[in-house]
Amino acid sequence: MFYLSTRDSSLKMNSMDVIKQGISREGGLFVPERIPRLTRSDMKEMEAMDYRQRAFKVLSLFLTDYSESDLQSIVEAAYRSDNFETPEIAPIIGLDNDLFVQELWHGPTYAFKDMALQILPHLMTTAALRTGDDKEIVILVATSGDTGKAALEGFRDVNGTRIIVFYPHGGVSPIQKLQMVTQEGSNVHVAALEGNFDDTQTGVKTIFTDRDFIDSLEKQGKRFSSANSINWGRLVPQIVYYVSAYIDLVKNKALKDGEEFNVVVPTGNFGNILAAYYAKNMGIPIGKLICASNSNNVLTDFINTGIYDSRRDFYRTISPSMDILISSNLERLLFELCDREHQQIEKWMGNLKESGKYVLDDQSLIKLQANLWGGFASEEETLKAIRETYHDYNYVMDPHTAVGKWVYDEYRKETKDTRKTMLVSTASPFKFPEDVLRAILGQQDIKDQDEFQVLETLASLSKMEIPIGLKDLKDKPILHHIKCSRNEMAYAVNKLLGLEG
Ligand SMILES: *Cc1c(COP(=O)(O)O)cnc(C)c1O
Repeated sequence: MFYLSTRDSSLKMNSMDVIKQGISREGGLFVPERIPRLTRSDMKEMEAMDYRQRAFKVLSLFLTDYSESDLQSIVEAAYRSDNFETPEIAPIIGLDNDLFVQELWHGPTYAFKDMALQILPHLMTTAALRTGDDKEIVILVATSGDTGKAALEGFRDVNGTRIIVFYPHGGVSPIQKLQMVTQEGSNVHVAALEGNFDDTQTGVKTIFTDRDFIDSLEKQGKRFSSANSINWGRLVPQIVYYVSAYIDLVKNKALKDGEEFNVVVPTGNFGNILAAYYAKNMGIPIGKLICASNSNNVLTDFINTGIYDSRRDFYRTISPSMDILISSNLERLLFELCDREHQQIEKWMGNLKESGKYVLDDQSLIKLQANLWGGFASEEETLKAIRETYHDYNYVMDPHTAVGKWVYDEYRKETKDTRKTMLVSTASPFKFPEDVLRAILGQQDIKDQDEFQVLETLASLSKMEIPIGLKDLKDKPILHHIKCSRNEMAYAVNKLLGLEG
């Protein structure tokens, strides 16, 4: 299987190089030359498999240049039982007969990013080893909150790698921030950036495509790579849990064999929902992909009108990992919608860069709407969804998942589509305890509690245990203090890598 770029369809690279490199030289994203299919008998066979075996099956269809034995050990190492709290890895909870929640937050940092970031370092270092590449891999990450911590955990002390994470100062939750600035490991760096997530992401992308910077790094025996969801090595492990969910739902008789179901995905950078799109195109009978946004509802408008317009107010919300106005992975979907015309992608992305906006042609819009439905939840609606879900089902959701729940209800009301639905739950409620408690108890009840008291309160209310890695934060020293502006990012990277002057 070869990979091409969304901005250069003549490119032909194998998956090891694609994963090592992260983003294509001309700025496009890597995509597989075709999407492999799972047959009905493949799916039947997978019923008897555990999550690791299913992951192996899906990965081996996309990553054909990795040897079977390498992929086996990679999957084993990533989804170890001491890394994930539950043997199912991605358990599914039925709220009622129609709505299922797939919990993707049982990994070491309690958000769904672990599903991919526990495996990406193994994919990358194996690729480097097998291609005889002895350059040190420097991972640059822009995070809206959860990717940073998950990437730090995934890459910490991994030989031959270094990781630098930039997060928007004031743009992440207190727990998310603490998780990052207390990160231990001999090869990890964390810096706050004055700006929002889009500034952070744009800054990192600029460094990635700066030829001079890349050359000077190579002279020092280093090369950049990306752990953001623009890296194909992040996306392909995410396809696994959609495949696995369908297999589980059929196995448990919640779905009939071949029965279509919808998925709801709380969306920011469009990586998670894109993985669902790929699963659908592999043959998993997914009906609508319901794209749930918060007040930064650029995607809702886009799906409804075909106009992507990022020139709008940016809001800091209680679902910070979705506070994004430029959804990078959308480019991969657009590539499929316009029949893989890379000139068309260059035009749209050029317009986005120059004027903050682009407009789909009618043909592509029809295809977009055939696959996706978009909705959003305001801050009040998000809180209401947390409260109502708690009262109706005795189930506690984090604010990102709650955005999805709100949009699911809207979708059912508006379309009368009664197909069964799976909502992906992207974070543990313990990552956002103040907002979750504010939703359920009201502001008054928690106003005098600090970060750690609210964890205790949430534990007794939800009858769940505080995740150990969050409880421990209280006693961890702060190890990372750097703060910089957009203009200082390249300088900061140089300095952290010891390449000054
Ligand atoms: C990253 C993240 C999202 C958004 O996922 P995308 O792949 O960027 O669309 C949603 N919820 C949580 C908790 C996240 O960490």
